[in-house]
Amino acid sequence: MTKPKKGAAKSRHPATAILHNGRDPAGQHGFVNPPAYRGSTVLFPTLEALEAYEQQTFRYGRHGTPTTAALEDAITQLEGGARTLLTASGYQAVTTAILAFVKTGDHVLMVDSVYQPTRKFCDTILARLGVATTYYDPLVGAGIADLIQDNTRVVFLESPGSLTFEMQDVGAIAKAARARDAAVLMDNTWATGLYFRPIEHGVDVSINACTKYIVGHADAMLGAITANARTAKAVEEARATLGGCPGSEETYLGLRGLRTLAVRLERHQRSALEVARWLAGRPEVARILHPALPADPGHALWKAQYTGASGLFSIVLTPTPRKAVAAMLDGLELFGMGYSWGGWAISRPISKPASSG
Ligand SMILES: *Cc1c(COP(=O)(O)O)cnc(C)c1O
Repeated sequence: MTKPKKGAAKSRHPATAILHNGRDPAGQHGFVNPPAYRGSTVLFPTLEALEAYEQQTFRYGRHGTPTTAALEDAITQLEGGARTLLTASGYQAVTTAILAFVKTGDHVLMVDSVYQPTRKFCDTILARLGVATTYYDPLVGAGIADLIQDNTRVVFLESPGSLTFEMQDVGAIAKAARARDAAVLMDNTWATGLYFRPIEHGVDVSINACTKYIVGHADAMLGAITANARTAKAVEEARATLGGCPGSEETYLGLRGLRTLAVRLERHQRSALEVARWLAGRPEVARILHPALPADPGHALWKAQYTGASGLFSIVLTPTPRKAVAAMLDGLELFGMGYSWGGWAISRPISKPASSG
């Protein structure tokens, strides 16, 4: 393998680019991957260098290591942004990104179908800081313009919506928000930069819960905030000031997961559609919420904006007694039950704990 030429990454297919981005074998004695750098203190050669610490690439563990820099660089290129900042979780990426843009008296427009903890952050900590939140209909499109107030500093999108899978018209919302000088933030966890690049559609900041598809193996918590050039400084300052940083092991697992993202997502897409189509024929199922299915109300928007679908979707059951739902879920043999987006497949039922607690 030869070292990729500078500037060559742009013309590569994203699935190819993620194999190269963030890798510098020449800087690692020829080894393909950077090690998991563990460290807090970084030494400076002279007093002069110590005092001019901002000029040294690595100056303290919290601000970054060669391992975090490698993953940040790779995600920046995947998302088509200017700068990526890693965080200890996807949720910390969400809260840090919002706090980068608001102060007391400001207003946030938050999509009503957002990941529930993001709503909790708005309703508790943001509210306590005197930042008001209005929840808007995910299908609002260009109509968002009517909801923007003079003090609206952030318009936040998540598409498709958590659990309910509404597709948003990202370009139309971003255009209206930018016209009023609000920062446009989007949770891109479902698609990742492989299937949708929010920044190319006018979004300022794309957020990934890397815990889900980028790490991909249910073995680490990790988040990423990717900013465009106009917002990079604000996001960088917020992440540094709030103090969030990922662990070395988690960062390494993020880098490792990223290398297989394209093949995993392709399979997720295929398997999820096959299961969704099968479920659509079942009498117990009233509706499938999956934007890649032609019958889905968000299908046209998905097709126009996205280059693929990942593996997560919802179903709505016809009225079913709770006992029947519990009997089905408790009897699952191949799937386990838990929060998050999978990562568990077994060939026999998990043994039930002998007692609770
Ligand atoms: C899981 C998730 C998050 C939070 O990520 P964590 O790494 O669990 O903190 C944020 N947004 C979406 C859409 C998620 O699914």
